[in-house]
Amino acid sequence: MGWLTVTVAHRALAKAVLALLAGMVLFAQPAKATEEFAPGSICHTAGPASLDHVVVEREAARWICEDDNYDWKKPRELVRIDLRDRSAGELNPRFAELDRHEFEHLAVIVKGVDGSSATRNYTFRETSLGLSSLRSIIPLPELQEQASSVVFVIDGSKWPESFANAELVENASMPPLAGYAHLLAALICGLLLAPMLFDFGYFRALREPFPLFHALFCLMAFVQTAAVSGLIPLLTPIDFDTELLITYFSVDIMIAATMLFASNFIEPEYLTRRCRLILLGIAAGALINGSLTTFKPHLFGTWIDHFYFGNYMILLAAYFHVLGSGWRQGSRMAPYLVLGFAPFAGIMLIQFTTIFIATDAYGFDETWPQNLALLFEVVATALAVADRFISIKRERDQAVSEARSLEVLSERDELTGLFNRRALTSRYADLVTEGFHAMALLDIDHFKEINDLHGHPVGDEVLKCMADALTAGDDEDAQVFRIGGEEFLLLLRGNDARQRAEARRRALTARTFAMMEGLERPVTASMGFLDFAAVSAEPSVDFGTLYTRADQLLYAAKCAGRNRTVEDRLELFIPAEDTDEAIAAA
Ligand code: GH3
Ligand code: MG
Ligand code: MG
Repeated sequence: MGWLTVTVAHRALAKAVLALLAGMVLFAQPAKATEEFAPGSICHTAGPASLDHVVVEREAARWICEDDNYDWKKPRELVRIDLRDRSAGELNPRFAELDRHEFEHLAVIVKGVDGSSATRNYTFRETSLGLSSLRSIIPLPELQEQASSVVFVIDGSKWPESFANAELVENASMPPLAGYAHLLAALICGLLLAPMLFDFGYFRALREPFPLFHALFCLMAFVQTAAVSGLIPLLTPIDFDTELLITYFSVDIMIAATMLFASNFIEPEYLTRRCRLILLGIAAGALINGSLTTFKPHLFGTWIDHFYFGNYMILLAAYFHVLGSGWRQGSRMAPYLVLGFAPFAGIMLIQFTTIFIATDAYGFDETWPQNLALLFEVVATALAVADRFISIKRERDQAVSEARSLEVLSERDELTGLFNRRALTSRYADLVTEGFHAMALLDIDHFKEINDLHGHPVGDEVLKCMADALTAGDDEDAQVFRIGGEEFLLLLRGNDARQRAEARRRALTARTFAMMEGLERPVTASMGFLDFAAVSAEPSVDFGTLYTRADQLLYAAKCAGRNRTVEDRLELFIPAEDTDEAIAAA
C-alpha cells in the first residue's frame, strides 16, 4: 500500500499522531511555541473569564488568524498582534489607537524577542480620547528589548474586535489632554450657538416657527460637534454608552430639525403641499434612523449601517429634489439651503460610498470635515434667516403703512383735507374724554347762489376758504370736521369756546373777501353753538342728541336772518319735558 492509496481513516489517524508529536514537542520546548505565529499576523482567541493568556499564547493552534465571521461574544477575548515583521532598528510602538468601545478590564502585554515581557492593566475610564471621541488611545507598556508581540486581554467588551483593528504607533495622534483641537472645537461650538440668540429675537418679532426650528438645528449641530470633538467627555462624567447615544442621536435630531426648518422657512408660494409632506417625511425618516442606532445599537455594524446610510441617501436625494424645485420656481431662500447643506451632504456621501462600495478603504475620519461643514451650514442658514426676517418685516411694515394711509384717506375730506363725518363719529367719544365740551355747527349762507352765479369751482374755493378760516391758528383745542356739502362742525375745549368759535365764523367773511375776487356780496355763515360741559359725563347724552340740538340752533340762526349765532348751554338733570320746552323757546 503506497502513499497514494492511503484511505481517509488512515489519513485521520496519521493527523492525530502528528498532533500528539507536536504537543510533545511543545511541552518539551515552550519558548519555541510562539514561532508558530506568522510574523505580522493578527490572531485572536476567546474563552471563560478565567482563561490564562500565558498558557493560551503557547498554544498557537487555538488561535484564529483569518476568520471574518468570528463571533466575538466570549467573556474574555484575546487579541495578539505579531510585531516580528518590523525592521530591525524600528522603535517599539508606544500607543494603540482604536475605535472607542467600552470594556470592563484590559491587560496589555508586550513581549520581547528575548522572552522578556511587560504588562499594564486598564479600566475603560483610564484610557484616553483619540482624535475624536470615537477613538481611544491606550499607552503600551514599555520594553527595553525589541518587541515581538502585543497581546490584549479584553474582559467584558461588546466590541473586542476593535482591538484587532488597532493601529500601533510610536506617537499618539493627539495629546490625551485638552489640546488645540479641543480649543478650536470649543470655538466652533460657540459660533454654532450664537445664531440661537438671534433666532429667539426673530421669533419674538415675527411669531413664525421657523426661527425656533433653526435654533433647534443650531443646538443639535452644537451637541454633535461637542460630542465628536471629545468635549462632552472632557467636561462631564457621563458614561460612554450615553456619550455614544448623544453622538448618534444628535445627528438624526439635527437632520429632522433641518427638515422642519426648511418646511417652514421656504416661502410658502414656492413650496407645494407635496414638497412640504416630503420634508416632514424626511424628518420622520431621520428619527427612525436615530431610534434604530439608539435602541438597537447591537445591530449597528451589521446590516443596520447599510440601512442607516442607505436611508439617508434616499432622504438626501428627496431633500435636494424639494430644494431644487423651490429654487427653479424662484425661491430666494432655497439656494441658501442648498449651498449650506451641500458640504455636510458631501461628507455623508463619502461615508455612504466607503461603506457600500469601498469598504476596505474606510479609514475616513469625518470629525473635522464635519465640524467645518456644520459651521458652514449654520452660518449660511443664519444669513438666510436674517434675510427672510428682513423681507417679512419689510412686507409687514409696508402692509401696515398701506392700511394706515387707507385709514387716513377714508377719514379725510378730499377737497379741504379736513376730517369727515366718519372721522367725527369714530373720534367723538375720545375727544369728549379729552375734555372737548362745546359743539359749533356752521353752514354757509346762500351757498347755492354762489354756485349758481359763479360756478361750482368758485363754490369749491369758498369751501376751502371756510376750511382755512376754521383751522387757522393750528389750535389743538379746536377740532374741525366737514360733515356735509357746506356744513362744518367744530368741537372745542378750554375757556372762551363761544368767542373762539364766533371768531372763526366771522373769519370766513374776511378770508373770502381777501382771497377771492368778483363775488357779488360778502360770504357769511350761520352757527348753532352748544356748550354741553355740564352733561358731557352723562351716558344718555350721546353725539346724536347733541347734534340734533346744534342743528336746531343753526336752523334758528337761519330763521333769524342768517349771518349770526344762536347758542344754548345744556344743564345737568334737565327733565325731558323741560328740554322740549327749551327747544320750543329757541
Ligand atoms: P342756506 O343759506 O339756507 O344754507 O342756503 P344754501 O343755498 O347754502 O343751502 P342749500 O343746502 O340749498 O345749498 C347747498 C348747496 O351746496 C347745494 C349743493 O350743490 C352745494 N354743494 C354741496 N357740496 C358742494 C361742493 O363740494 N362744492 C360745491 N361747489 N358745491 C357744493
Ligand atoms: Mg347753506
Ligand atoms: Mg346746507
